Amino acid sequence: MAVEGTSVALPQFLNKIQLIKQGAEARVYRGSFLGKPTIVKERFPKLYRHPLLDEKLTHRRTVQEVRSILRCRKAGISAPVVYFVDYTSHCIFLEDIVGSITVRDHIASTQLSSAQKSPVERLDQLAQKMGQILAKMHDEDVVHGDLTTSNMLLKAGAESGETELVLIDFGLSYISALPEDKGVDMYVLEKAFLSTHPNTEALFEKLLKAYAASSKKSHAVIKKLDEVRLRGRKRSMVG
Ligand code: AMP
Repeated sequence: MAVEGTSVALPQFLNKIQLIKQGAEARVYRGSFLGKPTIVKERFPKLYRHPLLDEKLTHRRTVQEVRSILRCRKAGISAPVVYFVDYTSHCIFLEDIVGSITVRDHIASTQLSSAQKSPVERLDQLAQKMGQILAKMHDEDVVHGDLTTSNMLLKAGAESGETELVLIDFGLSYISALPEDKGVDMYVLEKAFLSTHPNTEALFEKLLKAYAASSKKSHAVIKKLDEVRLRGRKRSMVG
């Protein structure tokens, strides 16, 4: 399929590939693009917004998503390859991480399986890897904006056999050097992590420990995280 100059051809293309998620902000499709397994993320207009404002915001989000992915990849942080971007229809064509599972599913199935080691011991390495990759991402001043265990994929490495951690869904990401923004990023992850995976407080602490050990700038971020936690606790006491 020719995608150049494509505002007409793109809707036809999207009609032919598989819709895998209909979100509030975007639709996600899976298909083949130039012979490669591809994920297409299409941001659609929000009809309740003024069209000009909507266009501006949607454009900005698309630019930010692509910018963050490229910045991560340049720094050696695994994120999908960006194959193609169409700023008219707000579509991003991304590498499909074939054969991957979400960290969410991996943790859930490990917690269910009845092996001899405790789940925390078996997930120890993964927690470390997550802490390290997030520290690296924050050192590049990329704030993800929606850190959850569903937005991290695990993929078997082609040669080493070691599993690779791939970050996805940078739709709410932005570039910031502020420790507060990074602290809130970690707080969002903590909330999502502990509510999705019961009894994983020790595991999350391992993640934070690895985060702190991997980044020179982590001290200020952890300090902000503690402040945000405290604010959160006070709010829930009042409420
Ligand atoms: P998203 O809205 O970007 O979080 O995508 C929704 C779901 O599609 C994710 O939870 C993943 O299971 C899957 N997904 C998104 N991007 C990719 C990708 N690049 N490779 C493989 N699966 C993906």
